[in-house]
Amino acid sequence: MEIIRDPKAMQEIAIDLFKRSRSVGFVPTMGALHDGHVSLVKASLHDNDETIVSIFVNPTQFGPDEDLDDYPGSIDEDTKRLKSLHLDYLFLPKKEDIYPQNYLTYVEVQGLTNRLCGLSRPTHFKGVTTVCSILFHLTLPTVAYFGQKDYQQTLVIEKLLKDLHFPITIKVMPIVRDKDGLALSSRNQYLSGNERISALRINQSLEKAEHLIHEGERNVYILKKAITEHLSKSKDIHIDYISICHPKTLIDLTQLTIGKVLIALSVYLGGTRLIDNRIVKLAN
Ligand code: AMP
Repeated sequence: MEIIRDPKAMQEIAIDLFKRSRSVGFVPTMGALHDGHVSLVKASLHDNDETIVSIFVNPTQFGPDEDLDDYPGSIDEDTKRLKSLHLDYLFLPKKEDIYPQNYLTYVEVQGLTNRLCGLSRPTHFKGVTTVCSILFHLTLPTVAYFGQKDYQQTLVIEKLLKDLHFPITIKVMPIVRDKDGLALSSRNQYLSGNERISALRINQSLEKAEHLIHEGERNVYILKKAITEHLSKSKDIHIDYISICHPKTLIDLTQLTIGKVLIALSVYLGGTRLIDNRIVKLAN
């Protein structure tokens, strides 16, 4: 596994791979790797001639009161783990090399970013699309791998690729969960023992809503109420949003009539913000 820190060196390798017609899978991450990240890396290793993973805690996607300074890091463990997977290239750029002094360029997808997570994190997606644009130019991937865990992010990246004609395909991988159903997240390490137990309500409430839909419930108000009631049984859960919406436009629905719906939610447990979602297919 080759470790590259210098963006120019990364781009030179990527250009060489492109000239040699090697297919390149790229997995952007912020590190503190868990089995969710690993599922993306494994998919890329399986699908492509070469795989590049980046670890970069991107400052522009954090709001002023968010956890940038405390974001979990475990670079030695992450490196070991990626080495054991026989990864080809690990890209570890420094903040000042990605955003040098007098950096002035931002990339923004509109519309899709004003909903769900964009409401409580108004600058988040601008940071994501900016850093992904930079990383895509440095790694020149054939395919970029993202997790359904960050569902809205996958739609935003899809739109970025389409609108700016990046010659890159996006592959979205399923959510990896702990045995008890909690979606894996680097932020789960912030949770206290009690908060970790309360966090189980997140996936349970999504399951409940899915079950109600399968039983024929089509009224979004009733579905949201069921989710809210289940979450609210734990006093330490504070709901940020619950959305039942169209899975492509993210426009909120009031009554379910279409083939598939997205149920997405975000909650705070203490200072930790957790998200989860599921796509539910409506029986005809
Ligand atoms: P992050 O390091 O949190 O920026 O995540 C890097 C990538 O891993 C993103 O595409 C995430 O959607 C994906 N990811 C994070 N958690 C999971 C999970 N539990 N299952 C699948 N993919 C995940």
